[in-house]
Amino acid sequence: MARAVFLDRDGTLIENIPYLSDPASVRLLPGSAEALKKLRSLGFLIVVVTNQSGIARGCFPESALPGIHGRIGELLLREGAGVDAFYYCPHGPAEDGFPGCRCRKPAPGMGIRASEELGIDLRNSWMIGDSPSDLRFASNCGCPFVLVRTGWGKKTEREISPFTGIRENEKSGTMFFIADDLRAAAGIIEQAETGFSTERGGFSFIDPS
Ligand SMILES: [Mg+2]
Ligand SMILES: [Zn+2]
Repeated sequence: MARAVFLDRDGTLIENIPYLSDPASVRLLPGSAEALKKLRSLGFLIVVVTNQSGIARGCFPESALPGIHGRIGELLLREGAGVDAFYYCPHGPAEDGFPGCRCRKPAPGMGIRASEELGIDLRNSWMIGDSPSDLRFASNCGCPFVLVRTGWGKKTEREISPFTGIRENEKSGTMFFIADDLRAAAGIIEQAETGFSTERGGFSFIDPS
């Protein structure tokens, strides 16, 4: 089975611009291409999973997304990198009165769909993102998680305690790391893949209690 690194889009791979709809405004975060090349060289598929409630809110049409994702692919390709698949949720959050869906992170719908369509083993995959919903998505998919400090990451880091902040995750716990950016996150995954000593620290397990 294939393995993937699931990747949040806004604030993780590209600069976070709320309700981004213009391909010309896409900016890769520094080191992103290098990170994706490293992850691919480790044998991972790169799968972007992104919540785009701006579609449900009427901020931009769903038809704008292929242009945005095409632009991301183009910018990455210039540096010899790429994304294998983009998945997005066009729905709004239930807490804002929208009908619930199974694909809006933290629900695992996009991960499950990717696993079915691309033959991905979720238990041997990773998630990287900048928000609490990314962490909960990872937990719901059974993937270890790397929080990046780009985008909302620093706020997320302040708000969540790795030991008590996530009450709804599974009993098994989710392996949880923090990295400055996507490049550093790829470095952590590389270390984990090549076997690192737990004595070096740098990671913790989320305890559900
Ligand atoms: Mg984000
Ligand atoms: Zn959805």
